Amino acid sequence: MAKIFCVANQKGGVGKTTTTVNLAAGLAALKQRVLVIDLDPQGNATMGSGIDKMQLEASVYQVLLGETSVLEAKIRSESGAYDVLPANRELAGAEVELVDLEQREKRLQLALDPVQDRYDFVLIDCPPALSLLTLNGLCAANGVIVPMQCEYFALEGLSDLVNTIKQVHANLNPDLTIIGLLRVMFDARVTLQQQVSDQLMAHFGDKVFSTIIPRNVRLAEAPSYGMPGVIFDKSSRGAQAYIQFGAEMIQRIQKM
Ligand code: ADP
Ligand code: MG
Repeated sequence: MAKIFCVANQKGGVGKTTTTVNLAAGLAALKQRVLVIDLDPQGNATMGSGIDKMQLEASVYQVLLGETSVLEAKIRSESGAYDVLPANRELAGAEVELVDLEQREKRLQLALDPVQDRYDFVLIDCPPALSLLTLNGLCAANGVIVPMQCEYFALEGLSDLVNTIKQVHANLNPDLTIIGLLRVMFDARVTLQQQVSDQLMAHFGDKVFSTIIPRNVRLAEAPSYGMPGVIFDKSSRGAQAYIQFGAEMIQRIQKM
């Protein structure tokens, strides 16, 4: 049975997509079978996996509406060595169209049922909002990975997400927990970042992953080559950190 994780944070630009594709590639490099689900109409995880979002025959949009299956819609990321259920702008319409459907929060969960045995990990790249799309991700998942930058308002911003996760846990998905907070784009030379990092550890204890992802330009350059940073420049500090994070995730799920 696959372990299913949402990569979520209601803020944009905090490293959700970078974390999704690089963790996927890191896990694939560790011989794990991985499916990435792009749940963001921007389609960045799709493009960053080397798949052209303008040329899709089917996407997660048709899957959510029940028009096709995950198996039919998935595409291989040749660069990353994982499968992708891709997305493009069409997905923005799903937000409205889902409202009238039965089990509107559980469409993704139901669609994933038949492919559970094909993967070790399913990673869902969520959009930067607590929307019906994100809710579908949270209902399908066993846990949430929260990438965050160690900035002044970081803790404050977390409370909305934590509350949403609690509500989903109570009402829709009793499996759901926060797996961990991942410190990303970290620059140890910045005193404030170090301080916020210490606060995070004090507040959340072992819910903070021990791997820290440094700020590293190679990770930012990789998407324009249609590759995860882990593949684009495997020896870079950013890539090495995500590979280490993959190993940490494999350890964590053994305790789940
Ligand atoms: P989100 O999906 O949360 O909107 P992204 O993963 O797209 O965030 O990241 C936002 C921007 O920051 C992108 O341009 C990305 O390339 C860059 N970025 C993400 N992580 C890092 C990192 N560790 N070092 C440097 N740049 C990064
Ligand atoms: Mg994104």
